Amino acid sequence: MALKLHNTLTGTKDLFEPLEPGHAGMYTCGPTVWNFAHVGNLRAFLFYDLLRRHLQVVGYRVNHVMNVTDIDDRILDQAMHAGTTIGDYVKPYLSAFFEDMATLRAQAAEHYPRATEHIGDMVAMISALLEHGHAYIAEGDVYFRIASFPAYGALSRLDRTGLRAGTRVAADKYDKESVSDFALWKKAQPGDEQLGAAWDAPFGRGRPGWHIECSAMSKRYLGDTFDIHCGGIDLMFPHHENEIAQSEAANHQPFARVWLHSEHLAEAGGEKMSKSAGGFTTLRDLVAGGHDPLAVRFFLMANAHYRARIRLSNDALYAAAEQVRRLRDFAGRVRRSAPGPSEDQALVQRVAAVRAGYREALDDDLNLPQGIGLVFELIREANAALDEGRVGERGHSELLALMDEVDAHVDVIGADEPGLADEVERLIAEREAARAARDFARADRLRDELRERGIALEDSKEGVRWKRIRVGTE
Ligand code: AMP
Ligand code: ZN
Repeated sequence: MALKLHNTLTGTKDLFEPLEPGHAGMYTCGPTVWNFAHVGNLRAFLFYDLLRRHLQVVGYRVNHVMNVTDIDDRILDQAMHAGTTIGDYVKPYLSAFFEDMATLRAQAAEHYPRATEHIGDMVAMISALLEHGHAYIAEGDVYFRIASFPAYGALSRLDRTGLRAGTRVAADKYDKESVSDFALWKKAQPGDEQLGAAWDAPFGRGRPGWHIECSAMSKRYLGDTFDIHCGGIDLMFPHHENEIAQSEAANHQPFARVWLHSEHLAEAGGEKMSKSAGGFTTLRDLVAGGHDPLAVRFFLMANAHYRARIRLSNDALYAAAEQVRRLRDFAGRVRRSAPGPSEDQALVQRVAAVRAGYREALDDDLNLPQGIGLVFELIREANAALDEGRVGERGHSELLALMDEVDAHVDVIGADEPGLADEVERLIAEREAARAARDFARADRLRDELRERGIALEDSKEGVRWKRIRVGTE
């Protein structure tokens, strides 16, 4: 196991060594469900998907925790305007998040803790911070005392010289320049009760600040110290600095050992996509505009390294769709073609070298674009070899193994083609009609046509069923 990951804490690519052999615990900052996720958020979520998939490929059992922020300033604001509770307000956006993740074929995390369901854990942690002098109460709110945590700022290499003790900020998201004591708990405001956003605590009725949830929920599901923490680069400061300060001050243990930060997705114009800035694109917008979700997935995951910025554009999505098509066509062609009589040994070796190179690229800080580049070069050569009947048993099985390895990350090759089911059902109905009209020649032709596309039909009592097959095997 020689996986290297770029750790923001050390600033270098380090060999990944988990706390417990064979296990990898990861905490990833998830969605704030005040609205639909935009494509920038989805880039971060698909980066988490790439990481968890590769950890599994390397052989780890993964315990992935992705929090859901279902209470923050924006949610309160929106729920108040909508005249509803925060619980009812977030419901459709929470469902939309899970739908989007399924549409994009992201593997499910092991846990999706919601902030409002872990208030007790947050209250316990805030109590510990108060007890040890890392927090104080001011006008009913509780703040973290940054001056009490000398390591503050290590992750983002913050210059602490301008740090003025005692400056406070109550807003969940705030000016990136200000290093301030941040709110752990906010005193209940008159409207909070109707919004369902107030809880009892020894330090007064109120609601949590945004940062404390990640410290409390990572502790609950992964313990005080765990392997990997991920988020988008915008969260490094202050959110992740605050998480480290809260957790290490409360637990007296190191927090996450490896920090990974994914870069931004920019709008076509070049600005970072952000909901607060107004212009943002959702997955639903892209699909309504005719884009294939598999192309969106491939673009976000494989177009650039996770630490490089990318820019969303129609052209980039069309190019990704074309790459997906080439991967699928090639894999389909290999699957359907029977191994040829002769074996080109040089090709066999080439495929083995590409398999090793692909794996090395992924082990090198998840360099999927580099790995995919090797695969596309090989596809050209392998297509020529298939044309010339130079792919024998070995070459054939090496190629199939490579495509499976690629699909373990990208997961677009074996995925059912969007619209395939409808198309197959239509052909089955045509065949039934032909049989009813006793036009058996036509019925057989339709069955053969489906078989050529890798679909076999089975007549059963409930009607005709279909399944995928490898051509030449049945
Ligand atoms: P939020 O829902 O705002 O809490 O963000 C969820 C995730 O999306 C976090 O990991 C953010 O860092 C990430 N994120 C937000 N905006 C962008 C963007 N434009 N590009 C990439 N990731 C983003
Ligand atoms: Zn977080």
